[in-house]
Amino acid sequence: MGEVRSGSGEAPELDAVVVGAGFAGLYQLHLLRRLGFATRLFEACEDVGGTWYRNRYPGARCDIESTAYSYSFSPELDQEWEWSERYAAQPEILRYLRHVADRFDLRRDITLNTRVDRAVYDEVRHVWTLALSGGETVTARFVVLATGCTSAVKEVDIPGVGRFGGRILHTADWPRDEPDLSGQRVAVLGTGCSGVQAVPELAARAGSLTVLQRTPVYALPAHNRPLSAAEAAATKADYPRYRRAQRASRGGTLFTPPTRSALSVEAAERTATYEEGWRSGVLSGLLRTYTDLLSDEAANETVASFVRGKIRDTVADPEAAEALSPRTFPFGTKRPCLESGYYAAFNEPHVSLVDLRRTPLVEVTAGGVRTTEREYPVDTLVLATGFDALTGSQTAMDIRGRGGVTLREKWSDGAANHLGLVASGFPNLFTVLGPLSPSVLSNAVTAAEQHVEWIADCLVHLRRHALTEIDATPQAEREWCAHVAELAGRTLYPSVESWYTGANVPGKARTFLAYTGGMVEYRARCDAAARDGYAGFALARAAGHAAEPAAGATTAAGATTA
Ligand code: NAP
Repeated sequence: MGEVRSGSGEAPELDAVVVGAGFAGLYQLHLLRRLGFATRLFEACEDVGGTWYRNRYPGARCDIESTAYSYSFSPELDQEWEWSERYAAQPEILRYLRHVADRFDLRRDITLNTRVDRAVYDEVRHVWTLALSGGETVTARFVVLATGCTSAVKEVDIPGVGRFGGRILHTADWPRDEPDLSGQRVAVLGTGCSGVQAVPELAARAGSLTVLQRTPVYALPAHNRPLSAAEAAATKADYPRYRRAQRASRGGTLFTPPTRSALSVEAAERTATYEEGWRSGVLSGLLRTYTDLLSDEAANETVASFVRGKIRDTVADPEAAEALSPRTFPFGTKRPCLESGYYAAFNEPHVSLVDLRRTPLVEVTAGGVRTTEREYPVDTLVLATGFDALTGSQTAMDIRGRGGVTLREKWSDGAANHLGLVASGFPNLFTVLGPLSPSVLSNAVTAAEQHVEWIADCLVHLRRHALTEIDATPQAEREWCAHVAELAGRTLYPSVESWYTGANVPGKARTFLAYTGGMVEYRARCDAAARDGYAGFALARAAGHAAEPAAGATTAAGATTA
């Protein structure tokens, strides 16, 4: 049982505030409400959807199969919703989330167009006071940050951006009215997953497209296609089994784990295996073939060179093919992408590639962009330059925990928390899909559901024992951070400059920000902590706080099946 201390004070207006109306926040609101907690959700955008509301650039599409990238908590929802494509496009995922908000009557507790700017913890009352963008304040016992792992847009510090005479669009903040790019000279800066998805669609719309690439990525073909009525029926019939298996899986998608080293088989056999992975159209189709692709550089090079070969097979111009071939980091250590026509786009006469490694970007001018070699005239500049991932959406808020310390200060040397859920010194503040959890290395919807349910069960536990505060102990936090770093150190991930390590944001501390142990192990550790009375956490009761009668179901599992 975690340590129990005492505080003092009166009850807040709300039991819980949820920040963000994406996959995680909507389910958190639903579950807490079902469990009888007075909960409100605040969302900065004009509607629900989170990342799927904002990232509406042409080509935006999920790269986990839609039948897997969807909630598993409601068998009824599974039966009534029908995905039209293997990989759903952004508008369809947004429709799904709107449907979820309506179906579970969530909107009455959601305040849109409202940012949480500031959150201050009262150590005596065990209450958070939140300052909202509209000027209001609200008090709540608990705060759940469901603010997304890739949602805080990275500031782009390219000289001259302010004097550009054309239009600048960001993939993560795409206008609701589709911009007319016909006949325009469009340039796109950034070739991560967003850029890779946008390029073929921008090429189809623009007069000319210049792709400004600093680091090439490894992209695999999506083989996206419509789903037939028969497939949809088969999926629905199998959903009860599938959802159980998904929840028990390592990453929220189902596959048979590899058993052999890539270096233990003949080259011909390896190539045949990689061909199969390539044809599968699955993001992890290559990574899941051998055990050591993410831990051994020589093993990794076998798959990296296979992908480079595929790029050469697709891109007609050998110079462009070479520039598009990653050589500076192992395959999979930056998130791979799924592509639908990305490499083929470079065979079109109006699409050109500028290799910024060879000719670095100097500045944005009034009429375009200038590299060390020449100026490229541009009407619309598309930024696909990424996010301050995993921590940025939380540190963007002025969050003050014990002693007035801000989360920004606490994490200035690197994110720290216990079990990826609570940062020591910031009691009653939970992060969903935040740093040091499996989040971005798994199916984010499955990972979010696990967090949401753990948090809901935790609040029920506190209520049952008339407790008003949970904080991570400094020792448990140190041990968790060390464990996460130790596991990551067995892989090739930490050595690479990527958003996984914070290296994409100038000045950000370099730590590997995700849990590499997989969801099975992670879930077991979270469940064990709860079973042991929230081991690693300090629990406390504010003075004068009396036990409240519990309303409704008493576990997350009970609430979802009630
Ligand atoms: P990203 O992976 O961080 O890629 C950003 C790109 O912009 C990189 O090519 C980067 O080059 C370039 N860049 C950034 N700043 C630059 C600068 N100042 N000058 C030149 N180039 C610059 O961002 P993202 O593509 O938006 O993707 C982020 C993550 O979001 C993905 O990895 C994925 O997890 C998620 N996402 C998912 C989907 C999906 O499910 N389908 C789609 C989109 C995004 P360097 O590499 O050289 O820094």
